[in-house]
Parts: sequence; structure tokens; C-alpha cells
Amino acid sequence: MGLIVIKFGGSSLSTTEKIKNAAKRIILLKKEGKEVVVVVSAMGKTTDQLLELTGQITDSPAKREMDMLLATGEQVSISLLSMALSEMGAPAVSFTGWQAGIVTEKIHSNARIVDVKTEYIKEKLSEGKIIVAAGFQGVTEEREITTLGRGGSDTTAVALAAALGAERCLICTDVTGVFTSDPRYVQQARKLSSISYDEMLELANLGAGVLHPRAVEFAKNYRVPLEVRSSTENEEGTVIEEEASMEKNLVVRGVAFEKDMTRLTIFGLKNEMTGLSAVFSELANNQIDVDIIIQSQTDGNKTNLSFSIKNKDRQAAVNVLENQKEKIGFDSIEYEAGLAKVSIVGSGMISNPGVAAQMFQVLADEDVQVKMVSTSEIKVSVVINEEKMTEAAQVLHEAFNLGAVVGKAQ
Ligand code: ADP
Ligand code: ASP
Ligand code: MG
Repeated sequence: MGLIVIKFGGSSLSTTEKIKNAAKRIILLKKEGKEVVVVVSAMGKTTDQLLELTGQITDSPAKREMDMLLATGEQVSISLLSMALSEMGAPAVSFTGWQAGIVTEKIHSNARIVDVKTEYIKEKLSEGKIIVAAGFQGVTEEREITTLGRGGSDTTAVALAAALGAERCLICTDVTGVFTSDPRYVQQARKLSSISYDEMLELANLGAGVLHPRAVEFAKNYRVPLEVRSSTENEEGTVIEEEASMEKNLVVRGVAFEKDMTRLTIFGLKNEMTGLSAVFSELANNQIDVDIIIQSQTDGNKTNLSFSIKNKDRQAAVNVLENQKEKIGFDSIEYEAGLAKVSIVGSGMISNPGVAAQMFQVLADEDVQVKMVSTSEIKVSVVINEEKMTEAAQVLHEAFNLGAVVGKAQ
């Protein structure tokens, strides 16, 4: 008997009506003779609301308590969905993260899954039950509750699919698949019938919120057949696989973007071998993720160093560096907020050297000033002013012909 892991996101469970619809969908799978493990997010905007409540109490909550709080959101969904399934005659049992065997490292708010202990799930599956597991949460070996980072329920689903040897992992959401860009911002965006793990990983890492990056990483590492599809429409979604079978001839496959970025510049960094490593070790030790890095030589033996970080990390980054000013050795720090990153992604770029040039030309024609650039074999990213982000995404989408239907009819 094949096993399917099916995940429903928050917007697909925002009302009891939607929870009942999800239950109907799950029962159809069961009727096809599948064993079913369901992974759910918190209802609607619950996680945001819990964050807001915290803000009414403190600006600096302990991360352990945050995880304790945020993990409650998913617990509401698992019990309600299990009740809905039982009410419809399908025996189901709800599992928190730890009951589902999701073991994580001991990092609060952004933990990685290190093990999945499947005995309990298998026991209940063998009794013919549908398992409804809470996404986004796990437990450490020390019995601490952790969460996996915003959007992390996708990762729970793929991790369970890998550990249980599922024939497929379905991510059901409020769009019908992975599009060439976020359809909320780019009207011409078009659903892709398939995309490779590597391209999807880049898109997810570069801001395409439709999948949690670690979910794609898991799927790639464990070869989990993954499909993103609508939670309501019965139409084929997007398959994420080793080698995308369709649309190989497209150089650029998608446009992703992300706002809330800051460029931080350190002036007069002592030009010693140790300067660079000192800066980035201090930031890493404080869990501050650095994105694009640019170093430029100035006169004498000093350098200027710019890098991009998330807005939310800006104050912490400045504090950390200012506190270590003497040790690191630099003159001053400045920052520019209100920036965004826009990226084009496609595995065909490897063999097409003109893609970056074309991107810069398109942006120049629109008067979009590029402040930082970063490239890999399959992507080019630029940092620009945030107010130009949507416009830049739209013109790039058009310039690289992403709205054109190629291959199978959609
Ligand atoms: P869920 O609650 O189901 O996890 P998310 O909000 O996390 O849903 O992800 C779905 C959203 O991702 C869509 O509503 C869409 O606006 C956004 N999105 C961003 N980039 C893309 C893309 N390339 N293709 C499809 N959706 C995208
Ligand atoms: N509820 C969590 C969030 O809103 C996890 C998820 O939805 O995947 O980020
Ligand atoms: Mg999501």
C-alpha cells in the first residue's frame, strides 16, 4: 500500500469550513487505498497573531518561550482536523511534533531536523488510522520544544515523507503550483509544470515563499517526489524533481524577490588577513546571516567592506560590530535600509554568458539603480531600492519571456 504525505498551509485551514474541505480531500486519498500522513500549519494568520501578542508583553522574549508559544498554533489545527476526519467516518489521530518523532538540534526559532523517529506513526498507521501531524515544530534530545523557522511546516512534511519512504509528498496551498514569479505581484506569472530541485532551492532561498528552502533541500537529498498544488482546485500542480522534464529550453525559469534588506558598510577595515574573518565570525556567532559581500580596496592599507543583511538583524549587527571595534579594527559603520533583492534563476544560465548583461540592461532602461550584485551558476541577484522591487520583477519577467507558454499547455 502506497503512503502519501499531504501538507496543508495556514491559508488553506483558516476556517472550520476549510478544515472540513481538507478532510474531504484526505478521505479521497484514503479511498484510493493510500496510507495517509497529513501535516498541518497553524490556522490562517495564527502565528502572526501570536507574535503580535508577544509584542504586547516584551520586545525581547526568550527564544525558548517563543517556541513554546508558536508551537501552540499547529496544535489547534491537528486536533480540529482529526475531529473533522473522525466526524466524516475516517479514524484519525493527531500528533504533536515530538509525538511524530521530529527531533531537532537545540536551536530555538530556526532549528534543523536531525532525526525522525517513525515507530509511533507506523504503529498508528498499521491500525488503519490517518495521522495528522503538527508541522513547524520538533523536540530536542533534551526535551525542549523547538520550531523550524517561518514556513517550516513544508519541511516537516518532506522530512516525514523521506523517513517513511512515501511515494509522494503533496504541498497543498493557496496557489495552484510554483509560478515563474509570485503571482500576487507579477500578474503575468505562469504555473510551471515542473522545476528541478536546484532551481527550486535557489528560488526558495531568494524569497519565493511558496516552499520553505529546507524542505527543498530535504527533498533533493532524499529524492522525495514533491508536488506543490492547490488545496481546493483539482488540477495538476508543479512537480519538483531531479531534472525538470519540461521547458529545458528556457534560460531563465523564474524571478524571485525579497524585501526588508539593509546594506551595511564598514569603512577603513584594517587590511590584515584577520579583518574579514573577524567581522564574519562575530556576526556568525550571533546568528546573523550575511548575504552578498563586496570588498573594495581604498588607499593605504585599509579596505571598505559592504554586505547585505535582513532589516531585522540590522541593530544586532551594528551592536555586535561596534562592541568589537577595537578588536576587529575599523573606522566607522554606515547602513542603508529600504532595500530589496531581485533575482533571476535558471539552470540554462550556465551556458549563456549574456544573461547578467541583459538583466543589467533591462534594469538600466527602467532607471533601476543596482547597488550590489551576486551570481552563481544558476542565478543573478541584484540589490536595489525597495520601492522599485515589484517593477523590476515585472520587467525582468517580461524581458526573459517568462509569461510565454512553452511545452505542455497549462
Ligand atoms: P501556505 O500557508 O500554504 O504555506 P504560503 O503563503 O507559505 O502558503 O505560500 C504560498 C504563497 O507563496 C502564494 O500565495 C504566493 O503569493 C507566494 N509565492 C511566492 N513566490 C511564488 C512562486 N514563485 N510561485 C507560487 N507562489 C509564490
Ligand atoms: N505556522 C508557521 C508559520 O506561519 C509555519 C508554517 O505555516 O509553515 O510560519
Ligand atoms: Mg508556507
